[in-house]
Amino acid sequence: MAKVPFFRASIDEDDIDRVTAVLRTDFLTTGPVAAELEANLAQYTDTNAAITVTSCTAALHLCLVALDIKPGDEIITTPMTFVATAHAIIHAGAKPVFVDVEPETGNIDVSKVEAAITDRTRVVMPVHLYGQMVDMVGLSEVAEARGIEIIEDAAHALESRRGSVSLGSHSRAACLSFYATKNITSGEGGAIVTRDSEFADRLRKLRLHGMTAGAADRYTGTYRHYDVTEPGWKYNMSDIQAALLIGQLRRIDDLLEKRTEAFNRYRDALGDYNELRLPQWLPNSRHAAHLFTVQVRPEIRDDMLHGLQQRGIGVAVNFRAVHLYEAYGERFNYGPDQFPHAVRMGASTISLPLFPGITGAEQAAVVDAVDATLKSLG
Ligand SMILES: *Cc1c(COP(=O)(O)O)cnc(C)c1O
Repeated sequence: MAKVPFFRASIDEDDIDRVTAVLRTDFLTTGPVAAELEANLAQYTDTNAAITVTSCTAALHLCLVALDIKPGDEIITTPMTFVATAHAIIHAGAKPVFVDVEPETGNIDVSKVEAAITDRTRVVMPVHLYGQMVDMVGLSEVAEARGIEIIEDAAHALESRRGSVSLGSHSRAACLSFYATKNITSGEGGAIVTRDSEFADRLRKLRLHGMTAGAADRYTGTYRHYDVTEPGWKYNMSDIQAALLIGQLRRIDDLLEKRTEAFNRYRDALGDYNELRLPQWLPNSRHAAHLFTVQVRPEIRDDMLHGLQQRGIGVAVNFRAVHLYEAYGERFNYGPDQFPHAVRMGASTISLPLFPGITGAEQAAVVDAVDATLKSLG
């Protein structure tokens, strides 16, 4: 049977030429190409500023640092996410407080956030799972009433909208990932987009040691000394990485359309199986179509994963509930009785191959393999 990879990036010859052009210059670190990408990202997301960094994990961490999060502070997030979201909270010295998800979308259940707020709660960190945007209007009402900040984990959701809500329109900032399998990619990379120019200025300093001038400022024109206003991090993105993203961002709507078409083909082919449950796409939303997942009975999930692999299909699990990992369960006394929707989803979910260049034949092979594996498992 045909082999279908889980993911294939959409890098074209122009993207490669842009990278090699940077390699032929004397300036390899954060410079004019990163600045161009930042301007384009701010424009695409309708925000005031974009700050490129080395990863979404770094972006999330830096936003918390810029909000002056202190040890003992609590940050509310979802257990149905990649561990990076919760790790960033711990890196900032705070405690992750989980709230269960909506079973239909896997997104944080906004109606349960209020009950998790204490006088130590400083931030809510929603994750737009698979590209479906969280109810940001509802969440921002709860947060504003209690003086709590919102930082969005938009690693899946660069293209997402919900009604008139867009990234950063109902939060302090949104964090993006350009990791190898994300919607646009530089292998590794990330960015923060925000409408708050002062916050952006602080982030720009914090991503590079707290220096008041980056290399691009120091080595172009007359040398000037820099000051260091606080001990920042080393999170700046290089022009080599930025060059790979410039063209992908120009093609982003086309790439999204291709993933959406592939998504709909899967939905047509798999939507009627009683054994499969598909996450909901909400109306009046632009879904970023980052991942196509199906949920099966927890008892057959792992056999299903292996059965698909044996049939040549690349698979992934996005995600097992974070609070069940040893590092979280032990440290914060979390267990399997908590957040039951996230636990169930984490034990049921399977991600199938989805990328802009996937062919109809490849998708048919995936559907055949799903069908055959389900039959073999009874
Ligand atoms: C990929 C991912 C991250 C981490 O992104 P990096 O750029 O690899 O740090 C964070 N949150 C979610 C939901 C992700 O899927």
